[in-house]
Parts: sequence; structure tokens; C-alpha cells
Amino acid sequence: MIEHDVIIVGGGLAGCRAAVEIGRINPSIDVAVVAKTHPIRSHSVAAQGGIAATLKNVDSTDSWEAHAFDTVKGSDYLADQDAVELLTKEAPDVVIDLEHMGVLFSRLPDGRIAQRAFGGHSHNRTCYAADKTGHAMLHELVNNLRRYGVQVYEEWYVMRLILEEGQAKGLLMYHILDGRLEVVRAKVVMFATGGYGRVFNTTSNDFASTGDGLAMSAMAGVPLQDMEFVQFHPTGLYPVGVLISEAVRGEGAYLINSEGDRFMATYAPSRMELAPRDITSRAITREIRAGRGVYPDGRPGGPCVFLDLRHMGQEKIMSRIPFCWEEAHRLLGVDAVYEPMPVRPTGHYSMGGIPVNTEGQVRSGPDGFVEGFFAAGECACVSVHGANRLGSNSLLECVVYGKITGAAIARYVENRKLPDLDDRPYLQQAQQELQSLVDRAGTLRIGAVRQGFQDAMSDHCGVFRNDELMREGLNQLGQYQQQYQQIYLDDKGKLWNTEIIEALELRSLMVVGQLILASALNRQESRGAHFREDYPDRDDEKFLKHTLSYYSPAGVDIRYRPVTITQFQPKERKY
Ligand SMILES: Cc1cc2nc3c(=O)[nH]c(=O)nc-3n(C[C@H](O)[C@H](O)[C@H](O)COP(=O)(O)OP(=O)(O)OC[C@H]3O[C@@H](n4cnc5c(N)ncnc54)[C@H](O)[C@@H]3O)c2cc1C
Repeated sequence: MIEHDVIIVGGGLAGCRAAVEIGRINPSIDVAVVAKTHPIRSHSVAAQGGIAATLKNVDSTDSWEAHAFDTVKGSDYLADQDAVELLTKEAPDVVIDLEHMGVLFSRLPDGRIAQRAFGGHSHNRTCYAADKTGHAMLHELVNNLRRYGVQVYEEWYVMRLILEEGQAKGLLMYHILDGRLEVVRAKVVMFATGGYGRVFNTTSNDFASTGDGLAMSAMAGVPLQDMEFVQFHPTGLYPVGVLISEAVRGEGAYLINSEGDRFMATYAPSRMELAPRDITSRAITREIRAGRGVYPDGRPGGPCVFLDLRHMGQEKIMSRIPFCWEEAHRLLGVDAVYEPMPVRPTGHYSMGGIPVNTEGQVRSGPDGFVEGFFAAGECACVSVHGANRLGSNSLLECVVYGKITGAAIARYVENRKLPDLDDRPYLQQAQQELQSLVDRAGTLRIGAVRQGFQDAMSDHCGVFRNDELMREGLNQLGQYQQQYQQIYLDDKGKLWNTEIIEALELRSLMVVGQLILASALNRQESRGAHFREDYPDRDDEKFLKHTLSYYSPAGVDIRYRPVTITQFQPKERKY
């Protein structure tokens, strides 16, 4: 059995930042990071637009209070305000710290870090490295893992969280290279496993964003929080879904419909294209439904709208958002200097996740905690985003809560012994599970079942929802879960068997999908990204609370816990 003081699952920004913090505080703590990808291929590397922090380099009137208010209003008042306060107060320091690590931020002419406008933020406060911010940040953090002597297990797939008697004792992982299974025993397990965009058929997320950490936690009996809140980013390139960063609108691009109108004037007159994402995605969907969408060749009545950069000019486009120009050119042959880009909403971000307190410790329910288990980043829900996340607040959450959670873990391990653990039953069970997958005499291809499931989730739990639609979604999900029992694998071998990984990931996706649908069905109101046509208003009296959803193969149980409100009383949310 492998042993470490701390095992962190996930080599993205949150996992790496936590590992670095532990190394800085106490180099004698033995920390390992495990990732199913190479750490540098974590989805964080694809982040484009930037990271919010009130450095006041561009706008001296900005303040952490303004950032906190924007975040809480953006969240439709569901965010926990103590967590938001920490996020926004810590932001300038973590950005400067990244700068000292060597992250190459874009500059103002006088040499200070540049800051751009972003949706839902009242001041220009988003720091960036052109439109490759995640790339710039993750490379430095991964380099720092070496500096602090963190052991990295790359391309190991974690299959199971080992939780006994209310405490995390370790995990079970599968080496993708050669099919080897190992149990890791640790004083602390931390999940930083990222999002689940692949639940939907159109997403900006990478192929590895399959919600494994959420599914493993749920299957071990940990509740998941606020899973109904899924962010659909307004500008996914049509038809591929690849992200065109909000930075493009931050730098001045327009959204136009088939009549050439900047239709955001109808939906958010004061913020126009820089309204928060939930509002903008609904506006685009409404335009398309009303027949004012376009086809990529410009004919009216199509399934997308246009993102128009033409008035910005080549120089600005190529210096501020070169990657977005390149994406549209490479994938669609569109030269955005001269032609508008066809876009529509795409599955993007998970506001919900593994519930944690502001130290990153995982909650076992409305009151208690799981010993030895921590989480941070997109897989966690400390609830700084509530019902809708503002752009550039997620990279910030990864870094701030990665750091805070790392520090909390460094303190926590001091008083904890390695737990007693018998690895044999876990190894045996995993072995049987894998063997039964390989031996299955099914008739269905994994890809076909996954596509059907993703289509069902997109059709039944997308930007607009209602009771009947979601019940049908759950019904179809049940059918795909049965079909899962009839899949077959072509590859029966042990070496680099990607079909086994696809099968395990599909299982994760289905658990997550079930929790999203069940939580969404129970929330009979509209708030942030969760919009119900049958309950179009926010209902603070009944639903100003966090959902906790408990998974079991027999079904999902829903409970609730209160929202922390400190400075900002809920108000109507208008832009
Ligand atoms: C295209 C795109 C652009 C974005 N742009 C921005 C932006 O400009 N600003 C902003 O604030 N946010 C942005 N976001 C959101 C932000 O990038 C993510 O929320 C954030 O990077 C998530 O980081 P993370 O560390 O939580 O997880 P990730 O970076 O997703 O890393 C997850 C890690 O977990 C590992 N893992 C998962 N499951 C397993 C398993 N079973 N076994 C082993 N390892 C596992 C993976 O290998 C990976 O290393 C963007 C997102 C996308 C998709």
C-alpha cells in the first residue's frame, strides 16, 4: 500500500495551489498529487479571460466590498457571504503572489498589471495574460510542485474514495499505462477534480471534465450541494461548443441577431453585452426561439446569434484576444476581423459541488464534517458563486481556496495519525469490477450510450427547464443507466485501455446527471442559472437555501441548509 501524509486528487489550479501552500508552510509534510491527465493538461490550462482582483491599477475607485457585492448580486443572493468576503479580500495578494512566482500577466504601458472589464463586475478588475491566462498560471504552479518536492502520479485514474466510519482514509487508483491498481492510505485526502461539462452534449470543457470527484464523493455517501446550478456560457462557438471568452465582449464585441440589432438592450440595458452569463444565455436562447437567430452563413431563423468584433480592428483583436481569433479561424474558417462569429450557449461551469466550509473541510450534512477530507476548486462548493458565477471569479476561487485549504490541511495533519486501513477488500472489489466490465457480453458501444445520455441532459435540463421536461429527463436517464449494463469493450487488454476509462467516466457522468436533475426538479423557483418556466420568479421565502442531494442507487434524497448572509440583504436583481 502506498502512503502519504496528504494525497491531492487533481493537478489543476486548485490542487497545485494547495500542494504549494502545504510545501511552503511545512516542507516535512509528505504531499502527493494524482491526476488522470498530465497536470498541465488539466482544464485550468484552457482558461482564457482572466482572474478578478481589486488591484485598482485601472480603476482607483474599486474596492473589495464592490467586488463582494458584484459577486453576491451575480450569485442571485445564494452565495455564502463569509466565503465571498474571504475570496475578494484575499484576491489582490494571491495575484501578486502569482506574479512573484513568475506568471506573465499582460501589462499597462507603465508596467503594472493590466485589468479589463468582465460580465457582472462593476469595475475593470480582471487581470489577464492575453486570452491564455490559465496557461500562464498553471505552468508556473506545476513548476512549483517540483520546487516543493511534491510527488506527482500522472495518468492514474482515481476510482474510489475510501471512507469508513465518517472519515476519509485514502483512495483507490488505476494506472492507465498498465492497468495496475493501488490503494493509497493518507492522513488527508483532498479532491480538486474540476467540473463535469461532459454531462452535456455541447460544452466548453475538456474531455476529462467528467465529474469523477463529485460522483466518487456521492457514491461514498457525501452529499453534493446546489447541483441544479449549471452555468451555460453565452458564447460557445457554433456548432462545436468551444469557448469564445467573455474577454472578447470585455474588449468591446457586440452580440447581434438576424436583424443586426444589439438585442441585449432589451434584456440588460445598463450592462448590455457585459450582463452576467445566466441573463445573457437566456437572452440569446430567447432570440433564437423568437426566430431572430442566424445560420452561420447569415441566413435568418437559425440556431445561433453573431458575436461581432469587426468594429474593434485587427490590432486590438490580435493583441488582446488572439487565441479567440485563432479558435474561430481554425475550427470554422471565420476571420473575425472581417466576419462575425456564430455563437450559442454552451455547458461551461459547475456552481455546485462537494460542500465545504471556508477551510475546505468537506461537510457530511447540514451540520457535521467528514474527517480527513478536503476539497477546493470547481469540484467544491464553498459557495462563492451561489446560483450564478461571474466570469474571472473561478480562477480566483481556485487560487484563494486552494491556498486556504492547503494551509488548513497543513495544520490538520499535525494532529492526525495515518488511519488503519485494510486494502485487500478494496483491491479485490475493484479487480472484480474491472473484470466484469471487460467480460461484459453487451451489444452497445460506450460512445452511443454516452451521446444519448448527453442529449437527454441537454434537452431536459438546459437553459430553460420545467417540471414535465425534467421528469422526462429522469425517465430517459433511467433508460441510459440500464443501457450502461449492456455496453461492451473491444479492448480487453491492460495496456493503455482507454475504453475502461471511458466506461468509468460515463458512470460518473450519470451519477452527476441524476443529482443535477433531482436537485433542479425540487427547486421550484428561478434563481441565477436555474430558470424554470413553470416557476419564473425567485422565491426567497421557500428557496433562499442550499440544496444538499444524497445519492444512492435507489434514488436521490434532498435536504437543505441555510445560506450565510452578512452584509448584503437579498434584493431584486436587475442590470
Ligand atoms: C475553456 C474554459 C475557459 C475558462 N476561462 C476562465 C477564465 O478566464 N476565468 C475564470 O475565472 N475561469 C475560467 N474558466 C473556469 C476555470 O478554468 C475552471 O473552473 C478551473 O480552472 C477549474 O480548476 P480546478 O483546479 O478546479 O480543476 P481542473 O483544472 O479541471 O483540474 C482537474 C484535475 O483533476 C484531475 N482528475 C479529475 N478526475 C480524476 C480522477 N478520477 N482521477 C485522477 N485525477 C482526476 C484531472 O486530471 C485534473 O488534473 C474556464 C473554463 C473553461 C472550460
